[in-house]
Amino acid sequence: MNLTTGKTGTISQSVEDTTSLDVATIRKDFPQLSRQVRDKPLTYLDNAATSQKPRAVINKINEYYQQYNANIHRAIYAIGEQATLEYESAREKVARFINAWETSSVIFTRGTTEAINLVAYSWGRHNLGPGDEILITEMEHHSNIIPWQLAARDTGATLRYIPIRSDGTLALNNPDEYFTDKTRLVSFIHQSNVFGTINPVREIYQMAKDVGALVLVDAAQSVPHSPMDIQTLGCDFLAFSGHKMLGPTGVGVLCGRQELLTGMEPFLGGGEMINSVTMEESTWNKPPWKFEAGTPNIAQVIGLGAAVDYLETIGIDSIERHERTLTRYALEALSAIPEVTIYGPGAERGGLVSFNVENVHPHDLAQVLDERGIAIRAGHHCAQPIMQKLDVPATARASFYLYNTTVEIDALCEGVTAAIDFMT
Ligand code: PLP
Repeated sequence: MNLTTGKTGTISQSVEDTTSLDVATIRKDFPQLSRQVRDKPLTYLDNAATSQKPRAVINKINEYYQQYNANIHRAIYAIGEQATLEYESAREKVARFINAWETSSVIFTRGTTEAINLVAYSWGRHNLGPGDEILITEMEHHSNIIPWQLAARDTGATLRYIPIRSDGTLALNNPDEYFTDKTRLVSFIHQSNVFGTINPVREIYQMAKDVGALVLVDAAQSVPHSPMDIQTLGCDFLAFSGHKMLGPTGVGVLCGRQELLTGMEPFLGGGEMINSVTMEESTWNKPPWKFEAGTPNIAQVIGLGAAVDYLETIGIDSIERHERTLTRYALEALSAIPEVTIYGPGAERGGLVSFNVENVHPHDLAQVLDERGIAIRAGHHCAQPIMQKLDVPATARASFYLYNTTVEIDALCEGVTAAIDFMT
């Protein structure tokens, strides 16, 4: 079903899925969820921007600073060894969580943005040239557009876009037009942060391989919400952020195939990433450390390890099921409001809903909701090309996670109705 223009559209599936999560208990793990905002309980529906953090993650970061704060990989004393052990054990946890090819395929970065830039610099600047094409899509986050615009500018390569349809899906019906013998790299979003669309990675990977191109998948919105098996997904590089999956800010992951990482030039130069240094030249450490120059975000990496532990304890399959139930519920409830236009494909989408309300600017809507303690996103969601395509300046977006409830979605809909009554 295309909801983009369907102001009065309804979702055919009824909300009958049961969720196996004990949300009331889960919510107690997240200190911020019990606070009041503007004298109202906080209703946090901006999880696509960043998630809340469970006590287990906050405590783990505190533990590092209070008990074994030391630099890693170089200290020959107990607390340094413990810090190194915790840091490298977080790498093992992340590798297991996404079924990485090898533990050493996991490079810690500052986030998805830095992970994509790493590939654009370390691979792109050394492998692209005039006549080569980089292929992305019209539904990318800016962090998967700008690095390639810069790489194209610096190397003479051409940046091309797979178009989107009005329902927020990729127009892949004519692949030969986009996948050519000039295509060197295809980089695309797994789950759209605007539409919720889940792109057919395996299919795109096959199209890329048929023309000999590499594939990077921006998994910022998928790894936190659904099971990830990188070995069956279909990609050469995968990028995601810790702060969207219950972890701290300042840490993310680039996972890459070992043979590619080994052949790539370093991204940043400095300590840790070298094997030997003379005044004339240097040799590089093995991946992943070749790409982790300087003192890394030790506390954040260790905190991400705790986030993975927490997600695994709850169960990522159950989280995905819970979000699907919430999303169907939200689609049904919002589309029952005649003034609401919902963007994106039907119910088969990730856990978010972007929408607009007739004659109410999304910023005004967000403000009315904020008065009720409800946090949603309003803006272009770092995806201005999508806004241009939809011909809107901005949209409102509600995005869900394991701790959200249908009661919160009801509160959202009441707020939307109040904004309509107040502003139109
Ligand atoms: N890619 C997608 C799909 C996103 O939603 C985001 C953030 O919202 C990013 C990339 C950038 O992530 P970060 O800011 O953590 O680097």
